[in-house]
Amino acid sequence: MRPKNQTYIFMPHKIAILGSTGSIGTQTLDVISRFPDRFEATVLAAGSNVDRLIEQAVKFRPALAIIADESKYDRLREALAPLGIETAAGSQAMADAMERPDFDTVVTATVGYSGLLPTVRAIKAAKQIALANKETLVVAGELVTRLLAESSTRIIPVDSEHSAIYQCLVGEDPATVNKLIITASGGPFRTFTREEIATVTPEQALHHPRWNMGAKITIDSATMLNKAFEIIEARWLFDITPDRIEAVVHPQSIVHSMVEFIDGAVKAQLGIPDMRLPIRYALGDASRLPSSERPLALSDYATLTFEKPDQEKFPCLTLAPFALKRGGNAACIINAANEVAVRAFLEGKISFPEIYGSITRALEAIPFIESPTLEDYVATHRETISYTEHLTGCKIRL
Ligand code: NDP
Ligand code: MG
Repeated sequence: MRPKNQTYIFMPHKIAILGSTGSIGTQTLDVISRFPDRFEATVLAAGSNVDRLIEQAVKFRPALAIIADESKYDRLREALAPLGIETAAGSQAMADAMERPDFDTVVTATVGYSGLLPTVRAIKAAKQIALANKETLVVAGELVTRLLAESSTRIIPVDSEHSAIYQCLVGEDPATVNKLIITASGGPFRTFTREEIATVTPEQALHHPRWNMGAKITIDSATMLNKAFEIIEARWLFDITPDRIEAVVHPQSIVHSMVEFIDGAVKAQLGIPDMRLPIRYALGDASRLPSSERPLALSDYATLTFEKPDQEKFPCLTLAPFALKRGGNAACIINAANEVAVRAFLEGKISFPEIYGSITRALEAIPFIESPTLEDYVATHRETISYTEHLTGCKIRL
């Protein structure tokens, strides 16, 4: 209870968003705009969509706007200097910005490996992390969790499954957890045969049945590598052994994930598929903020179904147990090869099954490092990108 005659001054949470122009970034800004007394966006960073970044900066008036693509810098500066908004360009500027004193929480919503170095810098600067960029924990989960253990800050997951598990664990003794059950929609090819999957087009793969997301994660959902990544993410986020993490296909995407306890109880978090719920929960320091969306009406759903994932049809699923058993830089190799292979598939240079094929080729070709340093991860990433570019004939922007 609040003591009488005491006035509380509520300071808004200051937020940096890495990847503000993307799917998670724009939904984060939507949440911020609904709670202007609670949240303020003070740093916005994007890849190359300078027009959208300018639009966002004009609306949200951050102290700093950063564009990773340096060729777009002049346009950004010319548009924002008259408004007194500081500007910068390049991935180094994004990482350096993590030490600024004008925010306390960073939403990491860039795609792929690009999230790693800024997140490492943000942890070292004791910023709270609202983690959407799961690849950070895929590439270097062991190192990132070690850094977290040495720091005074924490990660609150934005990924819907991990947010669900986080919510299920509130008030529970970690020693009583039996297993984590991560749900998966199964993607657009859940009911396809192996033969049908072999010839799918990028247009088909980009059509996710439940979630509207960026292109890369949509393809990862179609191959189900996204689920393998989420198992790796859960292993590090919740400090749990891989044999106690299970994936289950739940095509309706209403149960976002579950936790089974030693007494046989299973807790689940349910909701409509809308990323603004886990974003609100993470920005609100793992607390509940009101939603203006229509709540879940279970009567709208005739049935909620659950089935075992099919590793024969979706071999990328096998990469989670493989990577976690092998350890070292294995998951870093998988992630980098996949970044190129996904682009190659989208550009029509390789077939859908060749995404998995490219990853396994890279795993055979790139030297294994058992205890990688941050520099080793950086080198492994570069080497794998270049190997897979050569393999697929597709160049990506680093
Ligand atoms: P999008 O492709 O929609 O957006 C990515 C954002 O990152 C854009 O702002 C893009 O800038 C920026 N970006 C891309 N590359 C770089 C780079 N090299 N340096 C700096 N910025 C970069 O992706 P999503 O929002 O869908 O996904 C973001 C992350 O969140 C991913 O890790 C994904 O796995 C995770 N996630 C997403 C979910 C979703 O529902 N979308 C759900 C759960 C997790 P620009 O467009 O200006 O080039
Ligand atoms: Mg997810």
